[in-house]
Amino acid sequence: MQRKFIVGNWKMNGALANNETLLKEVANGVAKMPGVDCAVCVPFPYLAQTQSLLHGTSIKLGAQNVHQANKGAYTGEVSVSMLSDFNCDYVIVGHSERRNLFGESSQLVAEKFASVQKAGLLPIICVGETLEQRETGITEAVVTEQLAEVSKLLGEQSFRTSVIAYEPVWAIGTGKTATPEQAQEVHAFIRKNIAGFDEEFGQALCILYGGSVNPTNAAELFSMPDIDGGLIGGASLVAEDFLAICNAGQK
Ligand code: PEP
Repeated sequence: MQRKFIVGNWKMNGALANNETLLKEVANGVAKMPGVDCAVCVPFPYLAQTQSLLHGTSIKLGAQNVHQANKGAYTGEVSVSMLSDFNCDYVIVGHSERRNLFGESSQLVAEKFASVQKAGLLPIICVGETLEQRETGITEAVVTEQLAEVSKLLGEQSFRTSVIAYEPVWAIGTGKTATPEQAQEVHAFIRKNIAGFDEEFGQALCILYGGSVNPTNAAELFSMPDIDGGLIGGASLVAEDFLAICNAGQK
């Protein structure tokens, strides 16, 4: 089993003064946890501040979105080469908030994924079903479709240099967490769906769970064999909570 990877997604939260306190507390705490890997994905305006505050720590830097083109007349957008300027390691693509609120299709998400990989950064691609889709019994079909565009564009092996985050939409920011068994079932399906019977490939895949992970439920979720860590929204804004979750992921 690989080391757990815990990623904070600040979403559209933060402020210069508060970020400093939060990041310093998180960095101090994570420095005492050699058995876990961490990253924080912050809003674009705070990349420079976060890069500087994380300098010399083991915590990696990530962004929450990117445009698929490298440059051009796309007012208001940010390219992956700009993210590289801040030494970003990760970029979240296809978060359900981007898919649902901003109409991002799986094809567009795949193009963003490609652009991130081409620049040598690692995409964190989010997939997950709505409550209605779960109740209709089409969870597996939904996540298959969300990942298939990447396979079509770049081939299945491209997932080796990426992170997959299974985030059931009904569990994001709602306080409703998938049970460890529900999450495990989908994680195992995703691993098998991508890697087939190639055991080495399957083990190389990093599949995070996201959706109302908190200090109370983290350890049980992370104890499941196919859950390689977590993508943490709300709880990543509170140093004590984020650190407790990181600690739950320590080997
Ligand atoms: C997320 O933003 O990806 C997320 C999982 O949020 P939360 O932890 O708040 O549910």
